[in-house]
Amino acid sequence: MKVISGRRYGRPLELECDTVVVGSGSGGAPVAATLAEAGERVIVLEEGPHVPGPQHGAMRQSESVRHVWRDGAMTLAVGIGDSPSINVTAGRMVGGSSPVTGGVCFRAPEHVLDEWSSSLAIDDLRPSEMQRWFDQVARDIHIEDVPVAMRSKSTALFIQGGESLGVKFDSMQRNTHDCNGCGRCNFGCPHGAKLSVDRTYLPRAARAGATIVSDAMVDRVELEGDRAVGVSGSLLDGEYGEGRSALRVRARRVVLAAGAMYTPTILRRSGLGRRSGALGKNLTLHPSFRVMGRFEEPVRGWEGALQSAYTKHYEHDGMVLNSVFIPSGILAATMPGFGASHRRLRESIGHLAIFGAMIHDEGGGEVWRVPFRREPLLTYRMSKRDRARVPIVLERMAKIFFAAGAKEVFFPVFGIDGVTPDTMDKLDLARFHGRKLESSSQHPLGTCHMGSSAAHSVVDPHGRVWDAANVYVSDGSILPTSLGVNPQWTIMAMSLRVAHALAGG
Ligand SMILES: Cc1cc2nc3c(=O)[nH]c(=O)nc-3n(C[C@H](O)[C@H](O)[C@H](O)COP(=O)(O)OP(=O)(O)OC[C@H]3O[C@@H](n4cnc5c(N)ncnc54)[C@H](O)[C@@H]3O)c2cc1C
Ligand code: SF4
Repeated sequence: MKVISGRRYGRPLELECDTVVVGSGSGGAPVAATLAEAGERVIVLEEGPHVPGPQHGAMRQSESVRHVWRDGAMTLAVGIGDSPSINVTAGRMVGGSSPVTGGVCFRAPEHVLDEWSSSLAIDDLRPSEMQRWFDQVARDIHIEDVPVAMRSKSTALFIQGGESLGVKFDSMQRNTHDCNGCGRCNFGCPHGAKLSVDRTYLPRAARAGATIVSDAMVDRVELEGDRAVGVSGSLLDGEYGEGRSALRVRARRVVLAAGAMYTPTILRRSGLGRRSGALGKNLTLHPSFRVMGRFEEPVRGWEGALQSAYTKHYEHDGMVLNSVFIPSGILAATMPGFGASHRRLRESIGHLAIFGAMIHDEGGGEVWRVPFRREPLLTYRMSKRDRARVPIVLERMAKIFFAAGAKEVFFPVFGIDGVTPDTMDKLDLARFHGRKLESSSQHPLGTCHMGSSAAHSVVDPHGRVWDAANVYVSDGSILPTSLGVNPQWTIMAMSLRVAHALAGG
């Protein structure tokens, strides 16, 4: 796939096209492919670098984090009140976050689509209407079941404990082909088996004539009246990747797909999307928590697919449990204690099993513009309902680990050591303040949410920003609510829906 490197271009860049797409991830790439294949002249501008699959797959994990994860994975949503501060991660490269996913694919749950279509009165968000887009994405990125044989022992032990308590698990689906379960997905697939958008939609867009420019950061949409005439920004071609040469693209139509943290920032800078007061608000994160169980026998949890099974047993309570594993180096840094006690735990990493929990959250977050700073500030106030769910889900996971025979369980709570079945009875997890909780998010959503009224939403049912004739949004920011499941499949399905409306079919 040919990509113009803004970093190496070395002079101002001016281009012209029908549609300029800002951001090349799960939301931007399907739009670019669809419109290019419909015969439009498409330009994709991506702030991050172009790191082809084999090069990414050969990087050390820490190298991948420094090169292609936004802010070296150090972005924080600051917790307000009793909410935890949450580490929010995203990719920043050609392909967006797609090349760093675990590949997990879930359709949006039917009850979520039902809620969207009925509460927003947008008929074609009904499950039966959305099915064609979900099916199309499944074909485009090859979504398949993860074979049971690929489950790690970490996952198998958790499932064994869960099933002994009547909790049923299912295999996950992922966008892979010929995956060998090496478990490196979040840091680039060395085998070309993960079919992220840089291997699917973007090459299709390029084959159909789209121009893709990396290291190309858009600051604002250029307007004449209520019509966009293009976008402007800079090529990140300075010695340390700072913007040196001007970038300007004239276009008939602008599609913003910079993700839920940056699309509202670009809109705000352009003076767009502010009418309803909803811009940047309604940020949902699917706050995630991981619990670890220490077993007497070796587990070697890093062997097998990182993510392979899940349970919806607690879905009615807004909790989904997903299998995960964390690279040993990162795990070691998060173990409690120091000195000899820390060394004891570090040495037990090969005996640890891990499982993750995700909360189907209400929108308590916000993306703020910070004067004189490009990066936005994120804040997050967990609703009372969601906050109350945290100790409950942690306890449920501990019970499952103990039922599987774990000798000790480690919670993501700063200040407490490993807990045994005996000490568990005396532990009240609800008493810990939110700031003691360790939580992460890979799923920022909802900050330019879709609706059927300009008074309450940022974009209309087709993704058009209400106060601009030809500016559209196609990324995780337009989802009206969180999903309770991993979002990439839904974002791509929504993106195809927006793209086909634009292409007139
Ligand atoms: C580590 C990790 C693991 C994940 N695993 C899964 C998983 O297994 N399954 C799943 O469903 N989801 C997963 N996700 C989430 C999923 O990747 C995202 O929800 C999805 O990719 C979001 O799509 P998007 O288009 O909104 O944003 P992105 O895919 O993040 O794309 C936005 C792009 O816009 C670019 N951009 C931002 N600002 C500008 C600007 N001013 N100018 C130009 N370009 C700009 C960014 O650099 C980025 O490349 C994971 C995410 C992470 C970070
Ligand atoms: S587990 Fe499969 S998809 Fe993930 S990095 Fe390994 S081969 Fe690639």
